Amino acid sequence: MLEVKLAGYNADADIIEKLKNSGWDGKNNISPETISAAYARISRDPKRVDELRADSLVEVDKARQSNEAIVFKMGHHSVAEHAYLNFDILGLSRLAVESLQEARLCSYTEKSQRYITLEGDYVTPEEFGEAEKKIFLETVSKQVAAYKTFFPALHEFRRKQYPKQLETKSGTNLLEGWAKEDARYALAMATECQLGFSSNSRNLEHIIRKLKYHPLAEVRQLGSALFNVTKQIVPSLIILSDPETFTKQFGREVSDGIIKTGALTAAKAVKAVKIPAAAPATGKFDVMLVDWTRDPDMKIIAAMTQAYSGRSYEASLRAARKMKKPEIIKFYKTIFKDLGEHDALYREFEDVNFVYEIVLSASAFAQLKRHRMMSISKQPYDVKLGYTTPPSIIETKQRDIFEKVMDETENAYKKIAKTAPRAAEYILTNAHRRRVLINANLRELYHITRLRMDWHAQWDIQNISARMAAVTKQVAPLSAALACGKDKFAEVKAGFFKAVK
Ligand SMILES: Cc1cc2nc3c(=O)[nH]c(=O)nc-3n(C[C@H](O)[C@H](O)[C@H](O)COP(=O)(O)OP(=O)(O)OC[C@H]3O[C@@H](n4cnc5c(N)ncnc54)[C@H](O)[C@@H]3O)c2cc1C
Repeated sequence: MLEVKLAGYNADADIIEKLKNSGWDGKNNISPETISAAYARISRDPKRVDELRADSLVEVDKARQSNEAIVFKMGHHSVAEHAYLNFDILGLSRLAVESLQEARLCSYTEKSQRYITLEGDYVTPEEFGEAEKKIFLETVSKQVAAYKTFFPALHEFRRKQYPKQLETKSGTNLLEGWAKEDARYALAMATECQLGFSSNSRNLEHIIRKLKYHPLAEVRQLGSALFNVTKQIVPSLIILSDPETFTKQFGREVSDGIIKTGALTAAKAVKAVKIPAAAPATGKFDVMLVDWTRDPDMKIIAAMTQAYSGRSYEASLRAARKMKKPEIIKFYKTIFKDLGEHDALYREFEDVNFVYEIVLSASAFAQLKRHRMMSISKQPYDVKLGYTTPPSIIETKQRDIFEKVMDETENAYKKIAKTAPRAAEYILTNAHRRRVLINANLRELYHITRLRMDWHAQWDIQNISARMAAVTKQVAPLSAALACGKDKFAEVKAGFFKAVK
């Protein structure tokens, strides 16, 4: 008979603290690692799952030993995923947040720069000596002054542009939000932010290990802070991020996380190969499709036929390639017929991939990187790639002030970079740009475009995602045809059904 028993759930740390102080004799056993330990034994122990859980709850030391044996010695690491932790993170720079959010299987919610007025709170990097600090502080204060000039002017501009929005509270907030999110293009990536971060222990071990060896001091500090808190709660599940305990336990040293030296040496050798100069990258928003699964429209037909017909993939692809244009169009009309803007695409849309090289602002990157079902390789921010000026800055005739603050920022960056090349990025602004390589499957592209081409989304990421959709449609005209913002979905779908014959 089916039984579903609640085994545990997130509880606020204050409640747990009260429980610990309540005199209850089980107070030392409060840890989600008992659940991991119980589940780790499921495959071998004949006892019921709930009995295993009850056992590990009363014998936490044994549960910890069992985790060490099963997770680390046997390599059954996935059981650490059953222990989940939540963290409030405050005062972390916008630049350091990027390193944390590289972990794709975790969850994040940040304070929005659309709704929060930035007061000029920023992190001063430890890497800076007195001279760098002076340049940094002077530049940050100019950036904050520019933000304070831009915001009221942009707010007034929006109020005049959309007077009807002022009739509702949400409309009024929206106009203010638009002004704030454009003004913040002048602010440095040293600006502090706050976020909620949740992760299972397996991901925590991975991210802590990576952060602890990061080139930026602030990021290493974050890694240590996460480690110190996590070690109190789930010590047996994060051994790889704890070199000391690892050595004590296993008698050898654990490597220091992800070593990039090899990659740098290998890339340097390729960079040395002489090649003819290429034409400069073109494209309005610098989004280029650099590689993709060939014949994506056919491959999706083949993958879906394989899944739903019992034929092999090879036979399905041969059959797809024999189809005439009207049959192919009919196929897509059939699978799109009942699709709504909130429905996930068929899983087989994951069988085709697109690789985009994108040059984008820090502000757009901050949003794009939040999409976790794709691979992102990123270069450092690069002043040679220029900066993105919000159109509203130009419309309000504030371009000169914006350009002045960008010039001052770049001069400061160049001076600081001489002695602190990596930490110099802190002074660059949300407008500065970097080049990234993104590999996404078509199902994720649909998800990105639904959210980011929608009118609720910020203009910079709207432009980027619209260009991603446009370049994809050039090579996948049928399978990518409905990639659009959710606000336009009904219209785009109707247009497809009418136009494609
Ligand atoms: C208009 C707008 C405003 C926003 N404002 C804010 C804000 O103020 N603050 C903020 O922090 N973020 C904000 N976001 C970002 C948003 O919350 C998402 O983090 C971001 O859009 C990534 O999308 P996603 O999480 O739906 O999916 P992706 O990460 O792109 O993943 C695709 C899909 O995979 C699944 N998935 C991926 N990971 C998980 C997981 N761990 N658990 C369960 N399912 C998963 C989901 O089905 C998801 O839809 C905003 C986004 C938009 C569009």
